[in-house]
Amino acid sequence: RAYLVRRLLENSSNQGFLKLSFHDHADIHQMLISPDNCEDETVEQLIPFRNAAFTDFNNSELRDAFKQAIDSISDSFPRCVPIVVNGNPITRNDFQRECPSDLKLNIANVSMANAEELSQAIASAKQAWPNWRDSPVENRATIFRGAADILERDRFELAALQSYEVGKSWREADADIAEAIDFCRYYAQRATKELGEKIEDDYAGEENTTWAEGRGVTAVIAPWNFPIAILCGMTSAALIAGNTVVMKPAEQSSACAYELYLRLIEAGVPNDVLQFLPGQGESIGAALVSHPDIVTIAFTGSREVGLSILKAAAVVHPGQEQVKRVICEMGGKNATIVDKDADIDEAVSGVLASAFGFAGQKCSACSRLILVDTVYESFKERLLAACASIRCTAAHDPSCMMGPVVDEHAYDKLAAILDTEYEGAVCLYKGDAKSGGYYVAPAVYEIGDPEHPLMTQEFFGPVLAMIWARDFDEALTIANDSDYALTGAVYSRLPSHIEKASRAFRVGNLYINRKSTGALVWRQPFGGFKMSGTGHKAGGPGYLLEYSDQRCRTENTMRRGFTPE
Ligand code: NAD
Repeated sequence: RAYLVRRLLENSSNQGFLKLSFHDHADIHQMLISPDNCEDETVEQLIPFRNAAFTDFNNSELRDAFKQAIDSISDSFPRCVPIVVNGNPITRNDFQRECPSDLKLNIANVSMANAEELSQAIASAKQAWPNWRDSPVENRATIFRGAADILERDRFELAALQSYEVGKSWREADADIAEAIDFCRYYAQRATKELGEKIEDDYAGEENTTWAEGRGVTAVIAPWNFPIAILCGMTSAALIAGNTVVMKPAEQSSACAYELYLRLIEAGVPNDVLQFLPGQGESIGAALVSHPDIVTIAFTGSREVGLSILKAAAVVHPGQEQVKRVICEMGGKNATIVDKDADIDEAVSGVLASAFGFAGQKCSACSRLILVDTVYESFKERLLAACASIRCTAAHDPSCMMGPVVDEHAYDKLAAILDTEYEGAVCLYKGDAKSGGYYVAPAVYEIGDPEHPLMTQEFFGPVLAMIWARDFDEALTIANDSDYALTGAVYSRLPSHIEKASRAFRVGNLYINRKSTGALVWRQPFGGFKMSGTGHKAGGPGYLLEYSDQRCRTENTMRRGFTPE
């Protein structure tokens, strides 16, 4: 009898082979998956996601190959960056993009889209949307697995271009391409799980199905500081989720953006599904946001522009059919706390890398340093000695530790800050700035008041403000006393302080005993809140749903007697 009961339980269980095969028509591959793994994933999805490896520049063959890419890309300058509407390039050469490391070098002649091209691009993308939306999710995911392979194939060429166009060192440029590859693979892997149909069948007599589908034409408005990664991340998420996309790259990184566009088309994204509109933010960017047929705006950039987009998107225009959604990632004024007992060697190198890497032009950069009580003097001495080792060089030079800032506007703004005699601030260190490009000297200030402008405003450059805190609690209070909440770092060896910071240091991405920059797709889903963003996390679970509308279908399955077809 016991045996009979066991067989009945086995054969009638919800996870049993009989129910899954005869009743649920489950896929045989799915049923052969190890029970240790999640239930509703296909074999392919269960291959664990792994980040693309960074290039090992200790390997002389790879180093030589990268140098070769750096040398040969410079033969292609100035490059031509057209507007592309429906696959048709339009070339006007409206804007010359100079190399920030070497102002004599013209990197690209960029065409800037006008209102007519914008209307055409949006109209085509709108028309292409229903087919793209209704195409199988897996097909869209497959295109992006292919795109990742293409980016991998060309990674040195793309990194070399980026090094010239926006002034990234070899390692930083290489990491940007690795991140773009990761976005494509990660979102492709999440697609079926997050967007596909799910049947909830545990309610007798009723079948409930939920799924997610694209919303329509998405405007992707990207910054220049991760010129391929961020543009690729927002674009791939939008397309995989079943939206068509109008790409609006930053003016300063249009050549990198065009190379990404070409590779997505090569991977199989149809010409009408992806439109390429380089142009001025204030004109074409703003017109995109307000266009009645743009339903989602994926924006990454400054707080000022992000807030203006949120406001503009709330206005309903004649002919508009949907409420606009804004996925908005903005700036940061990130703090690093160094506790009394911290490992100073580790903390100094982490602060140096996060404050001055890519000349402080990362949204995650450390720009506020909070030193707890007795660590202050010893840390200051070590940090200043370490700062003296920073060499400013052209970004495409293999020895580059710190390159230029992105353009004249950024240079003028930072030069004015460094020239200001701030009351309540002592400049402890100001390095040398090279000439011939937009080179800004790295600087460290000692501040007494947490409300000082050097502690509150995002400058987006190699400027670090340092302050003393009485104890760890005060350090946390200062760290949280900011409009922004993007990243933060804590160096401490005291478990109770680490525990306290984990809860009380309120930022989107908190790093313990490591630098605050360098988030990886999947391992550190990235994004902040408060005035740093609307709280979405790129490169993590749920991000694709931000680009989707979710639907639910309910059928009464008790009913009988269908009409024959
Ligand atoms: P930005 O705001 O000046 O420009 C970003 C994009 O918006 C560009 O494509 C620009 O052309 C466009 N734009 C400008 N004005 C516009 C308008 N009125 N309407 C529509 N579009 C407009 O930012 P940036 O200088 O390119 O990037 C630096 C900023 O980005 C920093 O504040 C940095 O912290 C932030 N950032 C944030 C993240 C994040 O994940 N939170 C990542 C990278 C950069």
